[in-house]
Amino acid sequence: MVKVVKIHLISEQFDKAGNRIDYKEVNKILWELQKQTREAKNKTVQLLWEWNNFSSDYVKASGIYPKAKDIFGYSSVHGQANKELRTKLALNSSNLSTTTMDVCKNFNTYKKEVWKGKRSVPSYKSDQPLDLHKDSIKLIYENNQFYVRLALLKKAGFAKYGFKDGFRFKMQVKDNSTKTILERCFDGIYTIVASKLLYDQKKNRWKLNLSYSFDNKNISELDKEKILGVDVGVSYPLVASVFGDRDRFKIKGGEIEKFRKSVEARRRSMLEQTKYCGDGRIGHGRKKRTEPALNIGDKIARFRDTTNHKYSRALIEYAVKKGCGTIQMEKLTGITSKSDRFLKDWTYYDLQTKIESKANEAGIKVVYIAPEYTSQRCSKCGYIHKDNRPNQAKFRCLKCDFESNADYNASQNIGIKNIDKTIKKERKKQKSEAQVNEK
Ligand SMILES: [Zn+2]
Repeated sequence: MVKVVKIHLISEQFDKAGNRIDYKEVNKILWELQKQTREAKNKTVQLLWEWNNFSSDYVKASGIYPKAKDIFGYSSVHGQANKELRTKLALNSSNLSTTTMDVCKNFNTYKKEVWKGKRSVPSYKSDQPLDLHKDSIKLIYENNQFYVRLALLKKAGFAKYGFKDGFRFKMQVKDNSTKTILERCFDGIYTIVASKLLYDQKKNRWKLNLSYSFDNKNISELDKEKILGVDVGVSYPLVASVFGDRDRFKIKGGEIEKFRKSVEARRRSMLEQTKYCGDGRIGHGRKKRTEPALNIGDKIARFRDTTNHKYSRALIEYAVKKGCGTIQMEKLTGITSKSDRFLKDWTYYDLQTKIESKANEAGIKVVYIAPEYTSQRCSKCGYIHKDNRPNQAKFRCLKCDFESNADYNASQNIGIKNIDKTIKKERKKQKSEAQVNEK
């Protein structure tokens, strides 16, 4: 199923040197591309019309349908139109191909009426919408705001206009339903397909008619009784598995830490430099030079946001692949044995929130369980003991000798239905057994 959402855009264009390009300049280029799109459409119609007349005459005279390749040396009108127009126009070639294909498809629906004299061959006007191939559209999510980058020019076009890469726009998201659609496109739950960029005369603004397709089949195929246990681990940030399944989902992490270190190293070197220019010789040197350093916290937060989006998206993909209709996670509130500095730095809550919202989008239920003893319990025999963990990374059961990665073992426990109740019962049983042994 394909649907369209309409979104107004605000130009956010930068040149190669990183300077903002005035929106009026951007408009001029886009209007020029509209004219080129018109030229492409009219040229394609002309070729189609010529070919049809030629071939019908040919059939009348010889009784045989001509092959385009034998007559013109090209295999289709669509291919020939692209070939003739590609070198001439500045349009991105995938978009151009979408435009000419559209004209060819339309032509077949009205050509009979033209032959019968019921209508004339269409002539396209100059305010044509710009066709966008699906690969020409890239959604960007930064600081709680959606942007879109559109590939509208061919490579030579970039050089001509001095652009860095593509046309960047801020998306004006007016309501929650639009926001949800964009989130689902961004998360790969919906798929962006060929779309159109139009100029809204009334509002003097560009408008993206974004087409997206989705398939509800996946959601109904998920089994609500099949649970994916998700553990926020110590040696790995995220480990997930289905109970009884050796296969596991694992995020090694370390990316955020690495990014933080590189950014902070740069910050230190910048502060070093400001020491030498802060003695008044270079005007307001110090104030100016420390400014970018202050944005570093922002940068790390943004990187973490993007990374958590990536991780949660990958996790949901795994859940769908496994057919899990339910995700179980530990509800970590306040200070527990697990929420040490490492986890706080990881903004576990942020990751958990993102997992939950993406799970909802995909039709997966999220169940929170109490986190107690899930890391000390043996997922094979149920024996609970803190010495089952000889070290942070390893699990070895004192009772049955089951050995595994500690995070994997925890995720196995977390993936068991009603694990809270089971653990309570087991604890009771173990306590009474211990008392019997003492006597
Ligand atoms: Zn065991």
